[in-house]
Amino acid sequence: MTAAEKILQIDTLRVDSDRDGQSVPIVRDMSMNVAQGELFCLVGESGSGKSVSALALMGLVQRQKGIRVSGSVRYKDEELITGDIGRFASIRGREFAMIFQDPMSSLDPVFRIDEQMKEALRRREKLSAAQERERIAELLTLVGISDVDRCLRQYPHQLSGGMSQRVMIAMALACRPDVLIADEPTTALDVTIQAQILGLLNRLRHETGMTIVLITHDMGIAAQVADHVAVMYAGRVVEQGTPEELFAQPQHPYTVGLLASIPRLDGPKLDLLPAIPGGVPDPKSLPSGCAFHPRCPAATERCQREDPPLAPVNGRPVACWHAEHVAQHGADFSESEHA
Ligand code: SF4
Repeated sequence: MTAAEKILQIDTLRVDSDRDGQSVPIVRDMSMNVAQGELFCLVGESGSGKSVSALALMGLVQRQKGIRVSGSVRYKDEELITGDIGRFASIRGREFAMIFQDPMSSLDPVFRIDEQMKEALRRREKLSAAQERERIAELLTLVGISDVDRCLRQYPHQLSGGMSQRVMIAMALACRPDVLIADEPTTALDVTIQAQILGLLNRLRHETGMTIVLITHDMGIAAQVADHVAVMYAGRVVEQGTPEELFAQPQHPYTVGLLASIPRLDGPKLDLLPAIPGGVPDPKSLPSGCAFHPRCPAATERCQREDPPLAPVNGRPVACWHAEHVAQHGADFSESEHA
């Protein structure tokens, strides 16, 4: 990836939060590059730090009491974290947009869709009433809403989950963002609508050239739509690659576990899917050494003592002392607890 192709360059991004008089690391030294026009997936279980990373990229946690953000995020050629706060706010309103997990709690229940769409549009440009109507119709049509007039007359509670998420996406697109951050945008939806929304996001980025950072706990979603995937665990990125690379040769035991837990039609028939034992640790009391070691079938004594750096193994970044071995022989979760 050349410098010109990188729209976001994230280097050792860190978010710490004060809790009970203690400084707790929520995001730890996240480093990755996102290319112009790509769909980049951040994958991990709940509590792995994905959403806080996204909020930090949007500049939405920086000014909260008791939260400290450090490291570097460069958007095109501008530094956002240590740069001018006013400039970051202006970029956020015009060039970055975000869609959230639950559209029903993001839309304002007391205003019709028409008024909410107009407000979203006015953040970016001043148009005549006729131009506004035309642009809103264009946006709603783009996200697959066929009866635009009816949709505009409705209140959020009158829309289905899929329709609400489409409206949220249309509102996000109203500012013609260069970067769209989508935080679990399909979690609240059934699988059919989920597939439609993912297809829609994928189509829109091809049509508009925008870059999408998609946050999901579902490795299957990443496999379907991502160009590039970063796997997060306990606040840090533990492996990166294309979906093809990760599926063909995962090098971190956590990635192996996530992949093993996806149901496969072409695999052996299983009564129970393998599951990663235990849960994501509380950031207040991270395990010593590699934070994954209490759940890892490949852990050794060294893993309990030393935290592995994110370093290239077979040409891809991975944070595991035994990545080479895992790449060759895997990590066996079959004896773990079962879902
Ligand atoms: Fe497992 Fe050790 Fe690798 Fe951590 S460093 S993922 S504990 S093998």
